[in-house]
Amino acid sequence: MIERIEETTVAELSGVRVAMGNMTEGTYALSDGSMTSGPMCRLATEDDVTHDVGEGSLVSIGGQNWLVLQVHKPPVGELGFVELQSLGGQATAASGDLDFVFRSSCPNCSAPSGWDGSTEVDIGRLFIGMACTNCGNRFAFTNGALRRRFNDNPPTFTPGRK
Ligand SMILES: [Zn+2]
Repeated sequence: MIERIEETTVAELSGVRVAMGNMTEGTYALSDGSMTSGPMCRLATEDDVTHDVGEGSLVSIGGQNWLVLQVHKPPVGELGFVELQSLGGQATAASGDLDFVFRSSCPNCSAPSGWDGSTEVDIGRLFIGMACTNCGNRFAFTNGALRRRFNDNPPTFTPGRK
């Protein structure tokens, strides 16, 4: 399924309302986590999650993966649009959305999993949120080295870091 969202309008992807914000030129992550630059736009979902995407980006919306086919930047005075293709299936975390400064294996499928940027303190211990790049599993992760790292020199979440 291919959906087109025009600039400043709202469409429905996987049952979630998604607004396309104004277009810019900038740097964004491709589906393999590498960075490139070019026309991009901001997609904002109804729960206020935003994704800055360009051609070749992969985003998870409504439990499905969507590949950005193109971000069309029009002549001045006309509206641009973004086209996305549903890849179906269960959403997996795109490696470009994760920070592999912390990595572990998914408890479900053993695939590489990276930090999703979230942290949580439970019973006085710091946990970080991890997402699997294969099966979409999300899980909390902690160990002594990780907690010392956050105490001594807290890392800045950097999506796409290997
Ligand atoms: Zn998994």
